[in-house]
Order: sequence, then structure tokens, then C-alpha cells
Amino acid sequence: MRVDDVTYAEALERCAALIAGGRPHYVVTPNPEFIVLARCDPEFRAILNRADLAIPDGGGLLLGARLLGGRIREQVRGTDLCNGLVERAPAMGWRVFLLGAAPGVSEAAATRLQQRYPGLQIAGTFAGAASSAGDEETVAAVRRAGRCDLLFVAYGASKQEHWIARNLHEVDAGVAIGVGGVLDFMSGRVRRAPAWIRRIGLDWLFRLAIQPQRIKRQGSTIPVFLALVVAEAVRRRASARR
Ligand code: UDP
Repeated sequence: MRVDDVTYAEALERCAALIAGGRPHYVVTPNPEFIVLARCDPEFRAILNRADLAIPDGGGLLLGARLLGGRIREQVRGTDLCNGLVERAPAMGWRVFLLGAAPGVSEAAATRLQQRYPGLQIAGTFAGAASSAGDEETVAAVRRAGRCDLLFVAYGASKQEHWIARNLHEVDAGVAIGVGGVLDFMSGRVRRAPAWIRRIGLDWLFRLAIQPQRIKRQGSTIPVFLALVVAEAVRRRASARR
């Protein structure tokens, strides 16, 4: 699976260039969970590999790359990228659409963001549904809002990327990003890990502590990811010896 070795600053510039580029683009935020899901979902893998930008969202990817002799310079969290883009949006005149999350969350996020970034243009908000059965209604809601330069899609890993792949060309968006829990953070409904916890790379553990229901998902992802990395490292070493 492709992951782009971009820094946070480079990712911001790439997004700005994609928005300026006119036609619709999309950005994905791979982490170990994405890699494990993509193994059993070839369509998801293809969607990820076709993205205009794949930022290294999960710290586990840096470790995995190092064990496999590659290099990813910096972890670029999707949350930070979204915050950075929203911060730039008023000056750039970018209009932002917040799609997905539980009912009421995108509206709460919009209110908080507009308080924080005066002049921010929210093109619209809509919870909608992740499944294709909801596409018609959701696409209509996004289209009604007109042009959106940034479309944040919060339906959780794989569902949001499938949504983007099915519908991006039906809406007038500059860059769509599958943002996971970012709207929950932006709305203030879920607390983000403090900066010092993020600095030591344990934000995933913090999120697990405040959302213990995630244990089932993460508990099955992290060991599988590590096993995949180790198996790949062993395979490469063995084929190098041959
Ligand atoms: N979500 C949603 N519909 C779904 C699944 C998830 O709106 O069918 C929302 C959920 O409410 C949350 C966001 O998607 O706001 C991220 O979900 P999750 O925490 O599972 O994603 P992750 O950040 O782990 O990718």
C-alpha cells in the first residue's frame, strides 16, 4: 500500500495545490488499521492507492517503514492536517463542508470552528449515512451547498473512503478527505490527547482510554499489523540471502 513520505508542511502545500487544481481530488490518512482492513478489501486498497495524497497518519507506519528499511520522515496526523487547512481557509477563501459523524456533531463542529476562525466559510454540514443507500440524499445535500474547496468526510476508516470513491465526481469539491474522528474532536464532544501525549506518540492509547469501546477494533488491529511487518521483514531478509 502506498504511503507518501510528506512532512506536515509539505502536506499542507500539496492540499493547497490540489484545491487550486480545479478537478476533484481526495486525500487519505493511512494508519495500521487501514493496512489491516485493506488486506481483506481489495477495493479499499485500490481506492487508497489511487488517492492524490496518502499522508502517514499512524505512528505505527513510521516504525513499520523503518523495520522494512524504508523511511517516513514524519508522522502527519489527519487531525493536524485538517486543523491546518481550516486555519488557512479564511485567508484563502476556501469553503468547507463537514459531512458525517453522529447527528448534531458536524453542526457543533461548524459553530466552534467559526468562533475560532472568524471569517471561515462553512459551505454546509450533513450527517447522512455511510452506506450507498444514503448516497442520493447525501450527494443532494452536498450539491445544494455549491462549491466546497474542502470536504471532510467522517464515516470511519474504509466507509468514508468508499463514500468518496463512489461520490466524489457527483459533487463540486476541491479536496475530499476521509477524516475519521476529526469532527468529534472539532465539535468538542471527544477530547483530543494533550500535546505532550501526542509528542510521545501515545495519542492512540489516550483515545482508547476515553473511548474504551474501541478496544475490540484496536486489539485486533495492532497485533496483526505488527505480525505483517515482521513477516515481511523476514521474507525480505530470506530473499536477500538467496
Ligand atoms: N461514523 C459515522 N457513520 C458510520 C461510522 C462512523 O458517521 O457508519 C462516524 C463516527 O460517528 C465518528 C467518525 O465516523 O464521528 C469516526 O468513526 P471512527 O472513530 O470509527 O473512525 P476512526 O477515526 O477510527 O477512523
